[in-house]
Amino acid sequence: MNFSNLNRSTFIEQASTQQFDLLVIGGGITGCGIALDAALRGMKVALIEKNDFASGTSSRSTKLIHGGLRYLKQFEFKLVHDVGSERAVVHRNARHIVIPEKMLLPIVHEGSLSAFTTSIGLLVYDILAGVKSSERRKMLNRHDTLKAEPLLAFDRLLGGGLYFEYRTDDSRLVIELAKSAFANGGLLLNYCESKSFVYNRLGKITGAKVFDKLGNKEIEIRATTVVNACGPWVDLLRKEDNSLKGKRLQLTKGVHLVFPYEKLPLKQAAYFDVGDGRMIFAIPRNNITYVGTTDTIYNQDLNKPHCNKEDVEYLITAVNKMFPAVALTPEDIVSTWAGLRPLIFEEGKSASELSRKDEIMISESGLLSIAGGKLTGYRLMAEKIVDLVAKKLHKSYGSCKTKNYRLSGGEFENESEFKKTLDQLTEKGKSENIPASKIAEWFYRYGGNTAIVIENTSKFRPKITDDEKLFEAAELVYAIENEMIWFLNDFMIRRTGKIFFDIQNAEKQLDYLSNFLALQLQVDDSSSQKDLLATKEEFSSTLAF
Ligand SMILES: Cc1cc2nc3c(=O)[nH]c(=O)nc-3n(C[C@H](O)[C@H](O)[C@H](O)COP(=O)(O)OP(=O)(O)OC[C@H]3O[C@@H](n4cnc5c(N)ncnc54)[C@H](O)[C@@H]3O)c2cc1C
Repeated sequence: MNFSNLNRSTFIEQASTQQFDLLVIGGGITGCGIALDAALRGMKVALIEKNDFASGTSSRSTKLIHGGLRYLKQFEFKLVHDVGSERAVVHRNARHIVIPEKMLLPIVHEGSLSAFTTSIGLLVYDILAGVKSSERRKMLNRHDTLKAEPLLAFDRLLGGGLYFEYRTDDSRLVIELAKSAFANGGLLLNYCESKSFVYNRLGKITGAKVFDKLGNKEIEIRATTVVNACGPWVDLLRKEDNSLKGKRLQLTKGVHLVFPYEKLPLKQAAYFDVGDGRMIFAIPRNNITYVGTTDTIYNQDLNKPHCNKEDVEYLITAVNKMFPAVALTPEDIVSTWAGLRPLIFEEGKSASELSRKDEIMISESGLLSIAGGKLTGYRLMAEKIVDLVAKKLHKSYGSCKTKNYRLSGGEFENESEFKKTLDQLTEKGKSENIPASKIAEWFYRYGGNTAIVIENTSKFRPKITDDEKLFEAAELVYAIENEMIWFLNDFMIRRTGKIFFDIQNAEKQLDYLSNFLALQLQVDDSSSQKDLLATKEEFSSTLAF
C-alpha cells in the first residue's frame, strides 16, 4: 500500500483498532527520526502530526547539516563532536538531499574573529567532527579570500577560512524519514492532532485521543509508550499531562530572507560576523540567495511565527556591511520564513547563549518528552529515546539500526553509484524529452525515486501538451501517491520548497495545480477554492513585514 492519503480510511481504521508499542506525537525531524528507528528495531509504531509533516520548525531552519562551529565559543565540545561527526552519516544516508557545501568565514577589521582564532577554531572543529582530509579547513590570505568572494567588503577584509558543511532541504529530509519509517511498517498520519491523553487506573499513559482533521472525527490510539516530540509545542503536551515541572522550554525565533540571485550574487556561501557577537549565513542556491538567521526570545503565537520589520532591518544591515556593493533594500526580498527553536530555558542566558543540546523529560505517567537539539543530530536523539522506549517495553529489540540505513530516495552504496544513477536517469529523461536540467532538479529532490516522476510524465504526456505543466503535474502526482500531501501548501512549501526557492514561478502555477490536485483527490469545488485561497495567503504572508 502506498504512503498516500488516498488510503487514509484504511490508515485511520488501523490507527484506531490496533495496539501499538509506541505512539509518537509530532511529525517534525525529531518525531519522524524516532518513528524510523523504532520501526527498524521491529516495534509497532504509530506517529501523528497535527498539520503536515515538517510544518513546524523542521521546514524553517537554515537548511544546513552542520556541526555548529559557533558552539565552540561556548565550549560545547561534546555537542560539536556529536553533531559534527553526524554530518557525514546523514550525508551518506541521504546523498540526494545532503550535499557538501564549502563555507567561507571572512576575517575583517574590528570583527570578533582573528586569523589566529579562526585557524585554531576551524582546526578544532575538523578534529572534533572527524572531518576527512579532503574536506579539512584551508586558511586564505586577503587576495585569495577576495578571489573566492569578490563581493566582500575589501577595505575591511583581512583574510578568510574555508571549511565544509552540508546543505539540505529540511522538510524533504523529514518526508524521506517518514517514507522510510512507513516502508518498515510504521503508521504515520498527518493532519491528526493529539487532544488529550488516555491513562490506566494506575495513572500510566496508555494512548491518546486524537482528532482526524481530514475525516473530521475523533479516534483513540492505544499504545504502551508515548513520546512527545512536539518541538515548540512540547510544553503544551506536558501541561496536558500535568507534568510541566522542572525543565521547561524557552523558544527563540529565527528568520531568513530570500533574494533573487542577481541581487545578492555570491560566488560562495559565507558565514560571517554581525558585530553583536552573532554570526549569520548567506547561502546561494540556484536562482536565489538566502540569508539568516536572527535569534530572539519568542513568547507569541506558536502557530504563526513571522518575519517582522526589525528582523528585516537587522539582516539587511548585516549583509550590506559585509557585502557593501549589493546595497540591498527590503523591496529586494522575494520570500521569507521564520521558525521557533525549542530550546531548554536557562536562567540569565540570552537567546544565542542558550544551549542547543537535547533533553529528555520523563513524567510520572510515563510520557517521554524530547526537546532541544538540532536537525543534524536527529538520529542520535532518536537512538537515545528509542533505547528508553525499548527498556520500558521489557522486550529485546536489538540495538539501533539507523547509522547505515539509507533513506528513501538515497539508496546508494557510494558516490559513484549516486552519479551513475543520475546519468542513467538523465538518459531515461532524454528518451522522454525531459531536459537534463529538470532531471537534475528532481534528482536532488527525490533521488532514486525520480524514476517514478519520469514514469508519471509519460503517463500524462498525451493529455498535457505544455511541458512546464506536464512536469509540475508529474511531481504533484508523485507527492499525492507517495508523500501524503492533501493541500496545495503541502506541495508548495514542504515537498518542493517552491515558496522559498522559486516563489515567482510557483505563484504562476497555483491555479493550474489547484485544479489538477482537486481532480486527483476528487475534492469538491468549494474545498478546492478554500485550499487555493489558503495557499495564496501563505504566499503573500512571506512578504507581510
Ligand atoms: C531559524 C532556525 C534555524 C535552524 N537551523 C538549523 C540548521 O541549519 N541545522 C540544524 O541542524 N538545525 C537547525 N535548527 C534547529 C532545527 O531546525 C530544530 O532543532 C528541529 O527542526 C526541531 O524539530 P522538531 O521535530 O523537534 O520540532 P518541529 O519540527 O517543530 O516538529 C514538531 C511537530 O509537532 C507537531 N505538533 C505539535 N502539537 C501537536 C499535537 N498536539 N498533535 C500532533 N502533532 C503536534 C507540530 O505541528 C510540529 O510539526 C534551526 C532552527 C531554527 C528555528
